[in-house]
Parts: sequence; structure tokens; C-alpha cells
Amino acid sequence: FNLPSIKNEPMRNYEAKSQDRAKLQAAVDELRSQPTFQVPCIINGKEVRTGRKNKQLNPSDHAQAVCEYHEADASLVQEAIKGAIEAKKVWENMPWNDRAAIFLKAADLIAHKYRYQVMAATMLGQGKNTWQAEIDAAAEAIDFLRFGVRDLNTLYGLQPSEHAPTQWNRMEMRPLEGFVLAVSPFNFTAIALQLSSTPAMIGNVVIWKPSPLAIYSNYLIYKILEEAGVPAGVIQFVPGPAEEIVGSCISHREFAGLHFTGSTHVFRSLWKQIGNNLDKYRGYPRIVGETGGKNFHLIHKSANVDAAVIQSIRAAFEYQGQKCSALSRLYVPQSMWKGEFKDKLVKSINEITQGPVEQFQHFMGPVIARHSYDKIMGLIDAAKKEGGEIIVGGTGDDSKGYYIKPTVIETKDPKSVTMVNEIFGPVITVYAYPDDEYEKTCELIDSTTEYALTGSIFSNDRVALITASNLLRNASGMMYFNDKCTGAVVGQQPFGGARASGTNDKAGSMSIFYRFASARTIKESF
Ligand code: GLU
Repeated sequence: FNLPSIKNEPMRNYEAKSQDRAKLQAAVDELRSQPTFQVPCIINGKEVRTGRKNKQLNPSDHAQAVCEYHEADASLVQEAIKGAIEAKKVWENMPWNDRAAIFLKAADLIAHKYRYQVMAATMLGQGKNTWQAEIDAAAEAIDFLRFGVRDLNTLYGLQPSEHAPTQWNRMEMRPLEGFVLAVSPFNFTAIALQLSSTPAMIGNVVIWKPSPLAIYSNYLIYKILEEAGVPAGVIQFVPGPAEEIVGSCISHREFAGLHFTGSTHVFRSLWKQIGNNLDKYRGYPRIVGETGGKNFHLIHKSANVDAAVIQSIRAAFEYQGQKCSALSRLYVPQSMWKGEFKDKLVKSINEITQGPVEQFQHFMGPVIARHSYDKIMGLIDAAKKEGGEIIVGGTGDDSKGYYIKPTVIETKDPKSVTMVNEIFGPVITVYAYPDDEYEKTCELIDSTTEYALTGSIFSNDRVALITASNLLRNASGMMYFNDKCTGAVVGQQPFGGARASGTNDKAGSMSIFYRFASARTIKESF
């Protein structure tokens, strides 16, 4: 059917003294001053307070809890699965235009009613500055919903093209039989929404385990979906200990799909467990995952230095490098590095400000939690021990929040510890390559890690772009020419990586819906 026109949600800029800023400020103030909010599990539309409580801390100030939440256990998960399977009977038969209306309404509720609250929850709970919260919790979340409806509408229209006389062939895109488990990460509120809602759009029911580090924003998203009309039981909000919740789901007979964003290690382990459980299931579960990255910028000698420097800084340090897509390996020709690249990079990094996100003025905030802080500082130390030279940064302060300075390490060893391991923090490792080894450097980039998520080539020479693009054909699922390797926009750059970075099913595109559909072909003779 004809949809309202679907366009990317326009971004707002929250300038001081603007109305948007005042409203966002009010939402931040309200969240900070309210008594610690108690987030329940939500099963069959009912709030369940299990009494097994945990806290989500504000990473800018870890003495503050953003919320307390009730954790589910295995038996509650079993109840949630039962309720979801029951809810599916009505949900999967609801006409598509009614399901579509629900998700379009959810998009409008975020855009026009709850934008500031969801952003405030993402800022205080997940340590995003205003701009990062706007592009995630507002724009991307809204786009996932609206473009999801558009893409699914197109998919429903794709039908077998040939019909013999007295015959009509058609294909029903049914949801999977059973339930889908969505396991979402802390770093994008929009991804949590996408993981839980896209399988539901096509008629699936979903057990949603949110990240313990993003509970409050994710709870608000759940409430918005509920207000928009997602019926009770269709999405079950089940925070709690990962192994218990996930283990309980993937050992269930009705387990039909996993929609996952998180670490490579966890994803592999889940895949193996699912393989071991195969005899228990009705069918072959669909496994969709987006995992780690070790993303690169390759600078060619023809590149515009200023643009490459600024884009590298943005790709590495926006949201403190906590994007799967963040830049962490930077390859610069030696003469350019020693010429002006290094000096310009250091000068611009020294101008970066960092502090609590609610001060509305910093380019960088904290990293998410104690374990991230320790891991990132540990990797910086390991790089130093191996002979890596700290060009800028390298220090942290965890006394109030988890702050790590934007860090650049120069290495002479292109396979050194921070060139190989995912850091998920504000650290770039630079390898200055011999000027005449551009192609060899492409081969090096390709063979350094097992990941293949994002990468960029900066060059004003078309032949150099093509050469690297071909040599790096399998090194990333997202390739950018003369732009940073982060910031894919729904409806513009479908997002996903290959190799160890995921199943490359491209969030923000039609292909994700195929994975959560079980088609039935119907031939009817007249
Ligand atoms: N889609 C985001 C980007 O392009 C990254 C998603 C992630 O971190 O998983 O930057």
C-alpha cells in the first residue's frame, strides 16, 4: 500500500538558547533530580518486580545511579516465551497496514513527544554527548522504524513474476515459527530498538534482553512501542544476567532466531551453543549478528590532509570510540605523516574538550563502565610495553567518571597489540607506511585482523581508490571513499560487516527482513 513519504528524520542542533536545548535541558534535569527510577521486567504487558535488583550507573559520574532495575531469571524467561507464543496468534494475523501504523506511530512518538527524554536517558545512561544522542536515540531510531516499514512494504510486494494460464502464484512472507531472541548492546539506543522491533514488524514475537548498561533508555523505547500499540506479549522486556536469560531462550524448543549486536566472542559462543542444541528445535534458527570491528583509514599520498585528519578524529573519538565502526587503525604515507599530518592531528586533538555530557559543551565524554576503562588502559599499557610511542593522550582519570584522553599510538610494528585487538575506546594506532608501498599496505590491512566491518580510503587519485578498493574487497562490509568510517545513515548506507564482524545482513535495509521471514509459496489453479 501507499505509505506516507519516508525521509530521514531532520537533525536538530540544540544550540544554546534554542527551544530544543531548553527542552532537552529540562529532560536531563528531570532525570537527574527524580528519585532513582525502578525499571521492571515487562512480561505480557505487565510490570514484574522480581526483587533481584541491579543498578545502571551514570558513566560521567559513577556515584549516580541512572536507574535501578529488576532482573529476570530463567523461570520468568520461560513465562515470557509462553506468553509471547500466545500473543503471536493475534499478532501474526494482524493486517500489515495495522502493524505498519503501530511502528510509524512509534517513530512519531519519538520524534514529537519523547525525543528529549530518550536523548536524556541516552546521554546520562550511556555517556553520549548531545549530538551523539541526537543522531542515535532520535534520528537513527526514528529512521529504523520508518524505513523498516517502507522496506517491509516493498518486500511484501515482491512476488513470483510468472503465472501460467488458469493459475496464480504468490508468496506469503510469514514470520518464523516460534520466537526471536534480541540481544542488544549499550552503545546505540537505536540498535536496541532495531534489534527488538524489526523481527516484530514482520509478525514475529521477541524476547528482548537489553544491555545492563542501557536499561533506562531501552525501557523508554519499550514504553514507546507499547504506547504506539505493540500488543502485550509481542515484545517481552527481559533484563537480567546474560547467561541465564540467553541460555534459557536458546535451549527452548520454540527458539527460532537470534538478533544480536555485541562482542565477537559472545556471538561465537552463542552460535556454538545453538549448534549443540539443534536437535531440540523445531527448525533451523536464523542467526543474525553484528559484532566487533578493527576499522581502518588508509590515506593515499594524493589525499587532502586536512579532511583526512578531521575525519580520522571524528571516526576515532566521537562517542569515545565506542562504535563497532570506530576507526582504530590509521595508515599514512611516511612523508605525509612526518610532513604535516602528525602535527595537524596532534594540534586538533589537543583542542578536544572532554567532560560530563550534561554540561552540553564537550566533544568527548566518558567510556561506559569500569571494565571498559580497565580494558582500554590495559591495552594502552601493553602497546607501550611493546614499544608503541604515545603521540598524544595515553592517560585516564576514573575518580568521578570513566574518562580516557583521546590517544594516538605510533607503531613501527603493523601487527602490534593495538593494531590487532579490538579496543572499543578512544585509541588510534598509526602505522606510517613507506611511500612506495601503497599496494603492500592494502595487503597488510587485509591480513592484520579477522574483522571486516568498516574502512575508508582517502585519495584524490581515482586509480589509487580503485586499486585499494579491489585489494580490500573482503576487508570490510562498509567502504567509504574520502569520508570517515563511522556514521552510516539508515536508508542511505545499509550497515553490516563480514568475516568475524558479523553475518553482514545489513541493518537498515530490506535484507534483514528476509532473515526473520519464513516464506510460503502458494500455487492456485483456477
Ligand atoms: N551504525 C553505526 C555507524 O555506522 C555503528 C553501529 C555499531 O556501533 O554497532 O557508525
